[in-house]
Amino acid sequence: MTRARVLVMNSALGPLDYRVPQGMQVEPGSIVVAPLGPRQLAGVVWEADRMPSDAEVGDNRLRPLLGVSDSPPIPAPVRRLVEWTANYYLSPPVSVLAMALRTSAAFESAPTITEYRATGLVPERLTPQREQALERIGDRQGLVRELATVADVSEAVIRGLVKVGAIEAVVVDTDSPYPLPDPNFAPPDLSPEQAGAASILRQSVGAEQFQTFLLDGVTGSGKTEVYFEAVAAALASGKQTLVLLPEIALTEPFLTRFAKRFGCEPVAWHSGLRTSQRRRAWRAIASGEAMVTVGARSALFLPYPNLGLIVVDEAHETSFKQEDGVHYHARDVAVMRGYFEECPVILASATPAIETRHQVELGRYEELKLPVRFGTAEMPRIEAIDLIAEPPERGRWLSPRLVKALEETLARGEQSLLFLNRRGYAPLTLCRHCGHRFQCPNCTAWMVEHRLIRRLSCHHCGHTEQTPEICPECQSEDTLVACGPGVERIADEVAALFPDARSAVVTSDTIWSPARAAEFVSRMEHCEIDIVIGTQLVTKGYHFPNLTLVGVIDADLGLDGGDLRASERTFQQIMQVSGRAGRGEKPGTVYIQTHAPDAQVMRALVSGDADSFYAAETEARRDAGAPPFGRYAAIIVSSEDKAAAEEVARMIGRSAPQRDEMHVYGPAPAPLAMLRGRHRFRLLIHARRAFDVQDMIREWLGGLNWSARVRVAVDVDPYSFV
Ligand code: ADP
Ligand code: ZN
Ligand code: ZN
Repeated sequence: MTRARVLVMNSALGPLDYRVPQGMQVEPGSIVVAPLGPRQLAGVVWEADRMPSDAEVGDNRLRPLLGVSDSPPIPAPVRRLVEWTANYYLSPPVSVLAMALRTSAAFESAPTITEYRATGLVPERLTPQREQALERIGDRQGLVRELATVADVSEAVIRGLVKVGAIEAVVVDTDSPYPLPDPNFAPPDLSPEQAGAASILRQSVGAEQFQTFLLDGVTGSGKTEVYFEAVAAALASGKQTLVLLPEIALTEPFLTRFAKRFGCEPVAWHSGLRTSQRRRAWRAIASGEAMVTVGARSALFLPYPNLGLIVVDEAHETSFKQEDGVHYHARDVAVMRGYFEECPVILASATPAIETRHQVELGRYEELKLPVRFGTAEMPRIEAIDLIAEPPERGRWLSPRLVKALEETLARGEQSLLFLNRRGYAPLTLCRHCGHRFQCPNCTAWMVEHRLIRRLSCHHCGHTEQTPEICPECQSEDTLVACGPGVERIADEVAALFPDARSAVVTSDTIWSPARAAEFVSRMEHCEIDIVIGTQLVTKGYHFPNLTLVGVIDADLGLDGGDLRASERTFQQIMQVSGRAGRGEKPGTVYIQTHAPDAQVMRALVSGDADSFYAAETEARRDAGAPPFGRYAAIIVSSEDKAAAEEVARMIGRSAPQRDEMHVYGPAPAPLAMLRGRHRFRLLIHARRAFDVQDMIREWLGGLNWSARVRVAVDVDPYSFV
């Protein structure tokens, strides 16, 4: 090649052409350094015919490329995936490509990185800041910047500690190899149902063709063991595997479990990695050496050169949908990646999404069912508690029947889990005297009281304030009251009811690192905890054989807000949390506290009749033309200047194309009318399934202009309507 089209890493720019200087070897996918004005930018060489350029420049006016990385080129299937994702989700290709290159390792070849760690030496001059730094850093290691963040001090403090010898440099080899998982390390004896599903999956891995499976098995049926057989098949044929999990918190237990089956841990990829870990993982992935990678959705775009299998675990989870930047759904993009890679994709779930079931009905996905729990474990018994007929005592949240069940479970020496999807102590604080409510200054949201840290916190933007002693409005003392429960408040109630029980609150506030998650798992396994009070963080993945009671504190919580998936999501979430009960030899019981025991979703949960619930939900979607029978796209207009946002939203609304295949609703102020200091307006497009919404939106918005103060984001197939 003498001329190269390059996608430079700057989302404001389209692809640019460069001259390839004599002696430089590039091909499509090569990672290069290109000049742009006085600057140097990284970029990736692209097929010119797949990426039109706005400015055709003659050969003699082209600037030469400055360098090429010795990292392997971005493989063709990844390039096709970048194009598809950018096109489908209406994003600049560079923004998608950036997810494949999210480490400096892609651009520089330095095989080492210098990290820092404490030496144990206590400096003579021990300022409070230095003391705090050394205490929080403990035995952690990382870049100066990373240690400063961990310790919540400035980088200068860390550098000062280096100077006096309290912290030392260590050189980390980012090329050190990972151990190789052994497919024959500890294979399980599969039940006949498991063996049937596993053999189909093994065969499909061997066929090296694109095919999507729905592995639909009740909680505890052994879905993980079954897809591990497919991983073993990929390992045996030298192919890479990617396993996607919905949350980082699930990574740690997964690593341990994987090591039991394959003899060593897989490579982990998620936002919690240190720079050196990220570099090492990326290099191993891109070179093809990392045989199995497990990660959150961001692992999906990495440049595996030799992918033979993709697994999406808990595939129904809505956290696979990214809500900022590129608004992609990792489950759907995973299927596309399998298509471009020509490899099978396994979607595993106990409560598959209606969209996924529909693909099975259409014959596009193959369903493999595991209808019973493994071994002697039975599905738990589920009962509803009508909060109107059997209310908790005044000022309490646990109804007498649930309290009694907790008491009995404790007496038997078994464990209980109370589920409430609300962090903190109380979702709203108000002044009893003047009625003042604490609202976030940046968002249309109440401040949530967190008693453990004595702060009010906004769960949308992260703004926090000290919980005040007096009302800021009327200056009264002792008049602030907490309204409604969060997990901390339930923990208080549990402590009052059972002073001798050992309880633990499990939320993202308490389990904020993989190490904390591992510690929690170990305490549960050693029965050092009697009662867990947790948010959705504890509903998935965990396997605690001695946990026999689950109480859902407020089953109606997810039904508020009324978005189109509210019932489905409630069903999935309660089925998941119920699935934690009775996974061992002892039977489990689940109590669902609700104000609406007659609602269809509650009746379905109690009767266990998932099929008729799904059938009714699916029909309702069909009638409404909602996904998967029709489609939505949202346009979100936001600005710090409310009038500017409103004006642009109106202009977009006024210029909406008139088409029979679709209808545009709005603009209207978003339910979250202000978020992080930005005023928000929404338009919603509802269209027939076969209609090319993306093309229409591209044309529509492409013809409009707005000031830089206003941001316009498009969310194709939205999951959030706030
Ligand atoms: P799921 O993911 O479907 O909820 P898991 O794969 O977590 O189920 O399996 C539930 C439990 O049963 C796990 O502890 C798992 O190790 C165990 N298990 C499942 N299948 C087998 C098997 N064939 N042999 C031994 N243990 C199994
Ligand atoms: Zn007041
Ligand atoms: Zn806020």
